[in-house]
Amino acid sequence: MIDTDALDIESELRAEIVRLNKVVEALMNRVEHSATQHYSDFDQFQTTIMLENLVRARTKELDAALRENEKINRALQEAEEKFHRVLDQSLVGITMIIDDRFHYVNPKFAAIFDYPVDELMTMDIMELVSDADEPTVRAAMQKALNQELAKINFVANAVRRNGQMITVEVSVSPAIDIGGKPALIAVLADISERLRSERQVQALHEQLQYQAIHDPLTGLYNRLFLNENLERELLLAARQSYEVSVVMSDLDHFKMINDCYGHQAGDAVLKAFADILKRHARASDLDCRYGGEEFFLVLPDTSLQTANERAESIRLALIAQPIAVADISIHVTASFGVATYPANGLSPVALIGAADKALYLAKDAGRNQVVAAAQPLQ
Ligand code: GH3
Ligand code: MG
Ligand code: MG
Repeated sequence: MIDTDALDIESELRAEIVRLNKVVEALMNRVEHSATQHYSDFDQFQTTIMLENLVRARTKELDAALRENEKINRALQEAEEKFHRVLDQSLVGITMIIDDRFHYVNPKFAAIFDYPVDELMTMDIMELVSDADEPTVRAAMQKALNQELAKINFVANAVRRNGQMITVEVSVSPAIDIGGKPALIAVLADISERLRSERQVQALHEQLQYQAIHDPLTGLYNRLFLNENLERELLLAARQSYEVSVVMSDLDHFKMINDCYGHQAGDAVLKAFADILKRHARASDLDCRYGGEEFFLVLPDTSLQTANERAESIRLALIAQPIAVADISIHVTASFGVATYPANGLSPVALIGAADKALYLAKDAGRNQVVAAAQPLQ
């Protein structure tokens, strides 16, 4: 009985414990739920404030970034405008080439080739290059694409829209990457006019150089050239131990030709005699007009005897060829004095003096003859 009672109490207690547990659990749940609810509201409040702060800070940041962006954009726009103004006003043609086509050309580039910019953008670049220079341009572009050199400069002939050929000087930089493609930037100038001027200056320079040492009437060298070169010839002869002969000639009674047939006829005779001298001169000889109707030949590596023979053949050629002026033919003769280095003179002055003396003897002996310098030095 006692045991039965005890058992009842225990089971009642157990049931109570179970009941109490359930109550506690329920209470705990409620408390917990209530606590969670309470925390959630607080957190929401906190979060809202925090988010507001964050949004405000973020907005501020975005505003600043936006303003910075606008500033950068404005600066970029200004830089681009400045850059375009420079490109537009550039005195050289500038282009960017991608895949053999014009990606950009500045106005000067279009002006050089006389094409509208839009039309150039539809063209293959080789349409502007002369056929002969296509390989040069291709090779230069390949070098730029291979980035072989810091800069590639070349000159090529190009064709304008109207077919006119021009010469351009081009400088191409190594390829750069534009949108994943290799792009070439080329700067070029039309140098046709400059080349023309340079050629004119060069031609003028050559003409002046020619005039400085030639006689305008006969085309023979002048006395200035003789003076400058005879000494050099003698130095060369001294070093290489050979003789140099000189032949001084003078037309006979030339004054009479002028008096009888006029000055122009006299000029024609001078030219005709000069032509005979030229025909008888070797490449190494110097044939000069020494003065009015006096002429001078320098014959390197030639003995007195050979020089004498050559003077004689010139004399005979002159006799054999009467000079035709208008409808008359004039018979002309000349006298010759021959001297040889080193026998008759060691210096130009001495040698010329010896030849002049021999010429005087030829005149004195009746003209139309060759006289060799008779008196060797010493
Ligand atoms: P000689 O036989 O003694 O040499 O007599 P010459 O008449 O030939 O010599 P002279 O020195 O008396 O006359 C030379 C003439 O040559 C005088 C001059 O008017 C003439 N003369 C000089 N230069 C020229 C020229 O460029 N053209 C022409 N037509 N005559 C010239
Ligand atoms: Mg004379
Ligand atoms: Mg004379």
